[in-house]
Amino acid sequence: MRVLVVDDSPLVRNMVKKACLGSAFEVVGEARNGEEAVALYRELLPDIVTLDVTMPVKDGLSAAKEILAFDPHARILLLSAMGDEELLAEARTLGIMSSLQKPFTPQALLSALQDLSRG
Ligand SMILES: [Mg+2]
Repeated sequence: MRVLVVDDSPLVRNMVKKACLGSAFEVVGEARNGEEAVALYRELLPDIVTLDVTMPVKDGLSAAKEILAFDPHARILLLSAMGDEELLAEARTLGIMSSLQKPFTPQALLSALQDLSRG
């Protein structure tokens, strides 16, 4: 499964990359904000996107809307932070049911990716 990792924090991007090493999930691209995410999604057509909620330039929900408009079958795992509950509720109205709260363990991330890849 090809994964696009989107987060403005290099630490989080590295955590996701490390967790995916040796797994069925291969990180094929990285974006630092929603604008890069939408552009890279169109270019790479990944199987799964891990998407940060709060980012500069364009936030995760705006990016998710554009990605889903381009590909209604896009599989998106939202990586949220404390206090993102309202945004998560809004994401569910977009059909995004998968989310994981930071900080997460590599095991929790892989488990969430596996659930999403089966769904
Ligand atoms: Mg962020």
